[in-house]
Amino acid sequence: MVMSPEPKMQERKRKRPRAIKWETELLEIIEETPDVKTFRFEKPEGWTFIPGQFVMVFFPEVFGKANRAYSISSSPNSPYLDLTIKLYGVFTHHMWTLKEGSSWTLRGPYGHFVLDMERTNDIILIGAGVGITPLMSMLRWSTEEKIDRRFLLLYSNKTPRDIVFHEEIQMIERMNPNVTVVHTLTRLEDKLKDSWPGLTGRINAEMIREQVERWQKPGSEIATVYGCGPASMLTTMEEVMISLGWPKEEIHYEKFW
Ligand SMILES: Cc1cc2nc3c(=O)[nH]c(=O)nc-3n(C[C@H](O)[C@H](O)[C@H](O)COP(=O)(O)OP(=O)(O)OC[C@H]3O[C@@H](n4cnc5c(N)ncnc54)[C@H](O)[C@@H]3O)c2cc1C
Repeated sequence: MVMSPEPKMQERKRKRPRAIKWETELLEIIEETPDVKTFRFEKPEGWTFIPGQFVMVFFPEVFGKANRAYSISSSPNSPYLDLTIKLYGVFTHHMWTLKEGSSWTLRGPYGHFVLDMERTNDIILIGAGVGITPLMSMLRWSTEEKIDRRFLLLYSNKTPRDIVFHEEIQMIERMNPNVTVVHTLTRLEDKLKDSWPGLTGRINAEMIREQVERWQKPGSEIATVYGCGPASMLTTMEEVMISLGWPKEEIHYEKFW
């Protein structure tokens, strides 16, 4: 017998916004860190997405049918669609040559790495470098909507200069009492060691365990975990959370490469 999915799941599936493909002009470029930029676009009329989703980017004249995926870093409430991108290889080097007014082809939204807006349990976000993008969309939207869920953000970068959205994350932490942010740096210069208020070192099992246990409220419903960053960090994250008693269904991750 073929079982139909439970009604709630059907409902959630139905609610996913439909993907479309469109050509658009680049509105603005925002320099975030030495090798990360936000590329800003207008959204097509009526187009929306769920925090955590991504779009595919094409430059048909240059790369034909080849494309790359980029998580949307802006909130669905924003009039803009922001893609926050790290300079790396073929596509991103091309993007770095483009100016405002250049033509981009986008297709989306896609993805199941999304905030379940109907739930009320707490949320743990674990990110590294540009892996903050889908998590930032979740944080921005939840803050704007005054969502009554506690958030822990554990965010790793190389140096203070590499922290994407650093000022805005600090502002969100000040404005939103539900948000706790823990930064860690993997290449902190010696001269900054005394003044750096955060942690140092890569996100490892011990760090995740310690931060989650410190932040968790006794007796609270299990938090949903969203991780985005290198595969090794995501594997560690899943192993630690399972060892802490988390069910797999509450652990979500997005692998960029
Ligand atoms: C769902 C999804 C969402 C994504 N969202 C973002 C985003 O928001 N911002 C963003 O900058 N990127 C994001 N990426 C990665 C993006 O799709 C590209 O892979 C990236 O921009 C590199 O493309 P490129 O053409 O410049 O490099 P390529 O020429 O394709 O790079 C060559 C190789 O390097 C690997 N690679 C690419 N980037 C890195 C890196 N930083 N570190 C280590 N290895 C790497 C790739 O797997 C590839 O094998 C996302 C990927 C996925 C699957």
